[in-house]
Amino acid sequence: MACEYRNGGTAMRSEVTSTESGALLFRFETEQGDCERDSPRMVGSEVHLRLPDDCGGDDIHPDLLALSALLLVLPWIGRGLTLGKGVSQRFAEAVEEDLGVHLHPVDPKLAPRPTPNDGRPGLAFSGGVDSTAALSVMPRETHSVFLERTAFSQRQAARQENSLYKKDAALYACTELSAMGRAVDIVPCDLELIREPVGFPVDLSNAVPLLCVADKRRLDSVGWGTIAEAAYRIGAMGFTDYAKRTTFTRWRCVFETVGLPIFNAVAGVSEVGTSIIVTESPYGSLAQSCIRGQVGQPCGRCWKCFRKSLLDSALKGRWPADKELDVMFAGGEVRQYLNKIPLKHEDVLTYALGRYSGTHPLMLALKRKVRGGELDVDWLERWYGPSLDLAPERYRAGTAQMLSEYLQPMSEADMEGFRGWDLTETVQGERYRTDAANLARLLEKPASSSLYARKERLSAIARGAMRRLRRLTR
Ligand SMILES: [Zn+2]
Repeated sequence: MACEYRNGGTAMRSEVTSTESGALLFRFETEQGDCERDSPRMVGSEVHLRLPDDCGGDDIHPDLLALSALLLVLPWIGRGLTLGKGVSQRFAEAVEEDLGVHLHPVDPKLAPRPTPNDGRPGLAFSGGVDSTAALSVMPRETHSVFLERTAFSQRQAARQENSLYKKDAALYACTELSAMGRAVDIVPCDLELIREPVGFPVDLSNAVPLLCVADKRRLDSVGWGTIAEAAYRIGAMGFTDYAKRTTFTRWRCVFETVGLPIFNAVAGVSEVGTSIIVTESPYGSLAQSCIRGQVGQPCGRCWKCFRKSLLDSALKGRWPADKELDVMFAGGEVRQYLNKIPLKHEDVLTYALGRYSGTHPLMLALKRKVRGGELDVDWLERWYGPSLDLAPERYRAGTAQMLSEYLQPMSEADMEGFRGWDLTETVQGERYRTDAANLARLLEKPASSSLYARKERLSAIARGAMRRLRRLTR
């Protein structure tokens, strides 16, 4: 099977070492050939994890370690990966078939990792609204594993220095969840620093800490806070069936082979739905999607804060005052995102702005661009039944019941609306182009005479200058 990640003839070697104190180290070395991929570039050769004290690295099934290695370096592997420990035949075959990577050596005596009969689901928990919503509808015994982004050396710390990322809110959520009796592991890990620009090597890489504790925690499935906007692409150009997307099909069998079938409990729920779930969930107050703010204080300047705050206003029926809206529209990142075509998660803004009846000029221009109030998108409040066909069978009925405690299931007509969501033609039309240009023109003007907006802009300029100064003096 062709794989978009294949890169020329590179072959890589991976060794894993562990210590009793729970430190786990993946070390990579190119055996043959050069990687042809320029961006993202692989800039590190090691990935560190600090596992909980009772999760020793020696006991981890070799297939779990090999899958972790693949999630760490797949974009830079071409023909094969040599491992320190042999993998099972079945796992090697699944990887060759679905990812196009040849694993070596194979241990013919090694049985694949079985799904534990007394197991429980694992969730790659992020602390955000979507993953808290997933936790809220998954079985109570679900085990959350949080990847705590951590620098393991001074050099790594220097690379993180200018990052706006703050983990305090997510760590607080983990601690509180533990106090509420939920099982949570926090695993410090530096996997994002293996590449430049910093980020996950592949979408599912944040499951690596979960894979490394899966044996000890007897995990029988793996889930993420993947929502309908991502799974079914309704947050981008339009509906694509998740069951047929390579992002799902490529990994489905590989994860199943290590006894961890994919269990994305909110794949059929939109961002509107996950926001409704967390409003009512006992864990809802802990959810914070902004990764730049402090505990309970989202930054208020990023695109996520902008979108979520309009959505929350729509759900509560209480809108910010015009001067607060001025401040929200004043941020550089928000302006940049507002000029995108289509907007990221435009469906959510269509829903939210459809409920806005104020007179703020930028809100009205945005409302017109996203056709708020003109389209019926109430189906975003409900969940898409066929998404559960992709979950492990033993969890389908329970999840359907839990989802139904928070949301209605989609009717046939809703599903038609969901499957029919497609912006391809819309964004090429005269109407959309005119509305987008109008919004862009209004965004160019000073937000208003509001002192708040001016203050916000001046402080953004000052922050930028400080960052540049720090870079120059380093
Ligand atoms: Zn924010």
